[in-house]
Amino acid sequence: MGDIVLKVLGTAQDGGYPQPGCDCPNCQKALNNNASKRFPASLGVLDIENKKSYIIDTTPYLPEQLNILNKTAQKYNFPKDHLEGVLITHAHMGHYPGLMYFGKEAINSKKLSVHTSKSLKKFLITNQPWKQLVDNGNIQINIFDFEKTISLSTDLKVIPIEIPHRQEFSDTSAFVIKGRHKSAFYLPDIDSWVEFNNKFNEISEKTDFLILDGTFYSKEELMKFRGRKVEDVPHPTIKDTFRKFENGFLKRNNSKVYFTHFNHTNPVLRTAFKNKIAKKEVNFLDEGKLFNL
Ligand SMILES: [Zn+2]
Ligand SMILES: [Zn+2]
Repeated sequence: MGDIVLKVLGTAQDGGYPQPGCDCPNCQKALNNNASKRFPASLGVLDIENKKSYIIDTTPYLPEQLNILNKTAQKYNFPKDHLEGVLITHAHMGHYPGLMYFGKEAINSKKLSVHTSKSLKKFLITNQPWKQLVDNGNIQINIFDFEKTISLSTDLKVIPIEIPHRQEFSDTSAFVIKGRHKSAFYLPDIDSWVEFNNKFNEISEKTDFLILDGTFYSKEELMKFRGRKVEDVPHPTIKDTFRKFENGFLKRNNSKVYFTHFNHTNPVLRTAFKNKIAKKEVNFLDEGKLFNL
């Protein structure tokens, strides 16, 4: 006992997969195959001993993702009101709008604890409809400081890490999630490794599972299928990130990588391609996967 379980609730980029209105080959295939559909990136966190759960990032698909979390919680005999809080990485469309379901038109929660950075709180309390959730007492925003541990229970600690990412409405966080036995680093969005290399190396040394931004496989795919430049939506490509893992990096740190946050253009969404490039310590996250910490 005392375990923490992570349940993967979504693995797509903010727009989901298939992406609305897209006729790219990946999306066309997914439209006709329910099993290959993916929700925007989100993570359920279950504190087994205390029978409480948390969601990292509330996407526009929160109703479906909450159902998945509920089913997992039932397996561990959690009570019906197990959802104790939400943690939000940043204010882009795949990561926070699901908060609206906690309002009076739907769940009507009572002071649900929402953990955010200071800048994200400012965004939420100064813009509708998020402000209304606070004013009506549906949510209560708790500010975290980067690098300062949030102690959710004796078994579960979360450390927010500041991430370089397009700061349109808020800054961006990633989270180190620590159970009693193992830990995971959840980083769905980053612009580039350049400013983050040292911090990443430091975290990797102490973390078992690295769940990382795998938005694009290569720089060419966005232009090929959408006529858009990757410079407009900066992310390190999987190809770039692979380079970090050369020379035994993961073995030395005893950590495993799982890519997530896949854009609809990403060729790793096709099983044959994914299998071709998979490496021993590098994986591509599946919907529904469980991690034990
Ligand atoms: Zn995103
Ligand atoms: Zn598409």
